[in-house]
Amino acid sequence: MNKIPDMFGELVFGEAIMRERLPKDTYKALKKAIAEGKSLELDVANSIANAMKDWAVSKGVTHFTHWFQPMTGATAEKHDSFISPTAEGKIIMEFSGKELIKGEPDASSFPSGGIRMTFEARGYTAWDPTSYAFIKDNALCIPTAFCSYGGEALDKKTPLLRSIDALNNQAMRILRLFGNTTAKNVISTVGPEQEYFLINKDLYEKRRDLVLTGRTLFGAKPPRGQELEDHYFGAIKSRVAEYMADLDLELWKLGILSKTKHNEVAPSQHELAPIYSTTNTATDHNQLVMELMKKIAPKHGLTCLLHEKPFAGINGSGKHNNWSISTDTGVNLLDPGSSPEENAQFLLFLTAILTAVDDYQDLLRASVASAGNDHRLGAAEAPPAIISVFLGDILTDIVNSIVDSKKYNKKEDSYIEIGVGSLPKIPKDNTDRNRTSPFAFTGNKFEFRMPGSAFSISGPNFVLNTIVADALSNFADILEKAKDFNATLQVIIAENLTKHRRIVFNGNGYTDEWVKEATKRGLLNLTSTIDALPEFIADKNIKLFEKHKILSEIEMRSRYEILVETYVKTIKIEALTMIDIARKDIIPAGEKYVSLLASTAKSKLDVSKTFTVDLEKSLITKLSDLLLKIYTRAEGLEAKLTEAEEKGDATAEARFFRSAIVPAMSELREAADTLEIYTAEKYWPFPSYSDLLFSV
Ligand code: ADP
Ligand code: MG
Repeated sequence: MNKIPDMFGELVFGEAIMRERLPKDTYKALKKAIAEGKSLELDVANSIANAMKDWAVSKGVTHFTHWFQPMTGATAEKHDSFISPTAEGKIIMEFSGKELIKGEPDASSFPSGGIRMTFEARGYTAWDPTSYAFIKDNALCIPTAFCSYGGEALDKKTPLLRSIDALNNQAMRILRLFGNTTAKNVISTVGPEQEYFLINKDLYEKRRDLVLTGRTLFGAKPPRGQELEDHYFGAIKSRVAEYMADLDLELWKLGILSKTKHNEVAPSQHELAPIYSTTNTATDHNQLVMELMKKIAPKHGLTCLLHEKPFAGINGSGKHNNWSISTDTGVNLLDPGSSPEENAQFLLFLTAILTAVDDYQDLLRASVASAGNDHRLGAAEAPPAIISVFLGDILTDIVNSIVDSKKYNKKEDSYIEIGVGSLPKIPKDNTDRNRTSPFAFTGNKFEFRMPGSAFSISGPNFVLNTIVADALSNFADILEKAKDFNATLQVIIAENLTKHRRIVFNGNGYTDEWVKEATKRGLLNLTSTIDALPEFIADKNIKLFEKHKILSEIEMRSRYEILVETYVKTIKIEALTMIDIARKDIIPAGEKYVSLLASTAKSKLDVSKTFTVDLEKSLITKLSDLLLKIYTRAEGLEAKLTEAEEKGDATAEARFFRSAIVPAMSELREAADTLEIYTAEKYWPFPSYSDLLFSV
């Protein structure tokens, strides 16, 4: 096993390979361009492209592709071979700087929310040199941003990169104010824990709902679910262990720091957590993790489900986004630190985060909104749709003591001076972690638990980076002009903690009392995607993103359109799939069973009129009622889908989907699931929940 260190990153054109293969001045120019965010001279790009190609070809690679992240949330690629014809009718392998830096995929079918319609027909991809090129499927993959010809972002990477810059700029202003002259950069770091389900592939293929929509649209509650909680951290079955080992190996080759794996709460549910890295890399890597999870499963006769709620009544899957900020010198700015100076700075960053989360609850909520995640947020096992922050006892006491002494100004003994040099050491809080909090402080980082398992983490992170950058910039504006730094710092922290303390909640977020309490505090409770998404384009949010140059108003409106459209399309496909399965599979199956019961009754009576056929009669009545319900509810659902088409505007249509179509789907499902309970197993047309959940 000592080969693993050698194998790690062998498919990545990373630091070591670059230093080895790039001419010295090329390497320096690349590093400089990355550090300064400048573009490269063409000859430098040519030199890098050539080295990349030689390295890739030495590993048997024949093609290259710009690898990008359109608004579908998946990744996209279009492979071109390196071949170039020579005069002698032969070929050579070539890759130019121009091809490295810019690509023009015919990408007119990617969602653009009208941007490309209004501006240019085509988009282009642009190399992101801050994320290493890598080899996948015999192709050299170049991580790229995807923009319209007018420069509008059409992807998930562009706003993320811009937000990384914004956070860096604003956090550096604060560090300089605290007298830090050594740090050159502030970076945000992310470790996304990824949950997923693994089920038998042959069973998966028998479920058209899973194949077409990624989740089960029908399925009666199994006699056994997750009640015993015996799966959580349980021994990993050997087939699953082999899958995980295979997955780890492939991830390590790609330089992905896969670290922890374990069984999750629900049967057949698992989790993978990497060691954290910079946000951009973590985001690219998480996309690859999801891709490889799906790709490797069939080799083990398995299918990986990344949907947020593949099974009703069973825990869904999320993605815990562990987020922190640190300096390029390796200091974690969310670590309370050991000296009073560090603590004062820590408290300012903490105040900025509480301010940001409170002021932009709406944006954070919108950043995790999707049709799939609607099944999860607010359900028993997931964080509620209300955003709040868990701080733990010690930090909460500190916050309270700052706020309250300000208010009463009498309790001299509990008054905390924040100024540099006066704050006591903040002890590490060892209180139990609160699993019900959507946004929890966990010692030196925050864990945002609302993102769905199928999400790109770009959205939640560019929002997080931007809102914190904004709070920091507002603080820096004041502090830079302050005559008395310590006194002003004191005021900023006290004022903002007073204003935003309402966002702190350490209790159980799953209770009804919390919902009431949160309403009293004036916190938002946006329970569905279509309640949350319109907040994204609220005036204050457009101003925010424009101020920090993350997204323009046009880009935001186009994103909003895409997200609303995706929401509608997702549910529409589910509804149509339900109707189809109800008509073609479920009703015929029920009818067949009814006909068996009827012929049994008839045969009985043929033998003797004295036999009782009460059972058959009663069952046939029950089944017939249910079948009729299924039939009429499918008709009703179809009619509602037609009605939705007449809504005209996309937001109105989405609202109608939420208020009318989702409930109609639940009603159809309820009748079918009851039918399943009363139907002989051999007549049921597809595998049951028990089959799916307990057969690996
Ligand atoms: P858990 O108890 O939830 O497993 P861990 O401390 O093991 O908590 O960390 C969970 C995730 O948080 C891991 O992916 C880890 O790499 C990540 N993490 C740890 N420190 C940081 C940090 N400073 N920034 C971002 N993510 C971090
Ligand atoms: Mg965890």
